[in-house]
Amino acid sequence: MKIKKNSVVAITYTLKNDAGEILDSSVGKESLYYLHGHGNLVIGLEDELENKGKGDQFSVAVSADKGYGNPDPKLVQTVPLSAFGTNKVEIGMQFHAEGPGGQVVVTVVEVNADQVKIDGNHPLAGVTLNFDIIVDEVREATSEELAHGHVHGPGGHHH
Ligand code: ZN
Repeated sequence: MKIKKNSVVAITYTLKNDAGEILDSSVGKESLYYLHGHGNLVIGLEDELENKGKGDQFSVAVSADKGYGNPDPKLVQTVPLSAFGTNKVEIGMQFHAEGPGGQVVVTVVEVNADQVKIDGNHPLAGVTLNFDIIVDEVREATSEELAHGHVHGPGGHHH
C-alpha cells in the first residue's frame, strides 16, 4: 500500500545539514514509526513521503519554511545570571520554558559575567534539512491510534 493520510509508517532516516554533518539518524536503531498526515513529522518530509511504499528510498532537502521554521529574533533574550540561582550555567545548556505556543526548549547561547543570552528558537530553525529516507513499513492505523493521533506498539506509545 502507498502512504496516505492515516497510514502508520516506519522509516529509517538520516538527517544532515548543508555542511553534510549528521544531525540525527536512526540507522542501526529501531525504525521511526509515525502516523502520516497529522503533523508528526515536519511538513516538507511528510509531503515527500506521500504515495511512497515499503522499500522506497529517497533523499530530500527540506527548506526551513517546511522544516522547523526560520529563527525569530524575538525569541532571543538576555536575562540576568541571577535568574538561574545557584545553578551552573554553560553554553549549550537547554531547559524548558513557557512560550507563547506552549512549552519550548530554550538554549543558552552566551554567558557573561552577570548576563545570560538564551534562544527559544528550535535548534534546527533556519536549517535546511537533508533527509535520506528508507520506507520500512506501511500499514493502516487502528481506530485507537487515530483517536490518539499517534502510533501504538513497536516504536510508538505503549499504554
Ligand atoms: Zn495512544
